[in-house]
Amino acid sequence: MFACCNNGDTGSEWGLRRMHKRILVVEDEASIREMVAFALRKADMEVIQAADARAALVAISDTPPDLILLDWMLPGMSGLELARRLRQERRDVQIPIIMLTARGEETDRVSGLESGVDDYVVKPFSTRELVARIKAVLRRSQGDDGTGSISAGGLRIDGPAHRVYAGDAQIVIGPTEYRLLHFFMIHAERAYSRAQLLDQVWGGSAYVEERTVDVHIRRLRKTLEPFALDHLIQTVRGTGYRFSVEA
Ligand code: CA
Repeated sequence: MFACCNNGDTGSEWGLRRMHKRILVVEDEASIREMVAFALRKADMEVIQAADARAALVAISDTPPDLILLDWMLPGMSGLELARRLRQERRDVQIPIIMLTARGEETDRVSGLESGVDDYVVKPFSTRELVARIKAVLRRSQGDDGTGSISAGGLRIDGPAHRVYAGDAQIVIGPTEYRLLHFFMIHAERAYSRAQLLDQVWGGSAYVEERTVDVHIRRLRKTLEPFALDHLIQTVRGTGYRFSVEA
């Protein structure tokens, strides 16, 4: 699982947090950096820019960002090296990192995930997708903030109490649907195959068939339907399912 990433505040989920998330964009290609910065500002985020790892380190020690968008290929110290270095320094353990990679670098993802990168976006990407991924990683890093509470798309999971709410209304939910929903919410905006869901949610039980996933997805949607939230559980054609707050 991911490292817990609370930002130091222990207040209510969103209430005490800064309104604008601060994103550090580390990218040596000025045109991409500018395009990303423009899109993030439009999405109400604050942007700090760095053209290489050295500048990034200065920016981080200056004002720690809420998330780092890190290009893999940088002159001098690579994005991967920087990610490793940040993870080794305890104080930076809590800043989520999204890596930007070019096509063909995907095979190296494993080494990146091992060095603590939270997500990947492959170039060329749409800024809409990028913003959605950033929001998902921020949500997941803040959601599991020690209180075990997570909110997205009008749903709230109270982890310690094992309860799910739509606004103030409590949703009665089965144990498997709960685990499925919890997994989806902390990994929002990502598609998972049935096999991956079995592995992650059912713990890779050897004798569970893949269509079991479909059965529980159907139940989960039925559970959310009275609250008009079943659209959050989306079918991804040819892949599987995903939780998404995007239409
Ligand atoms: Ca680059």
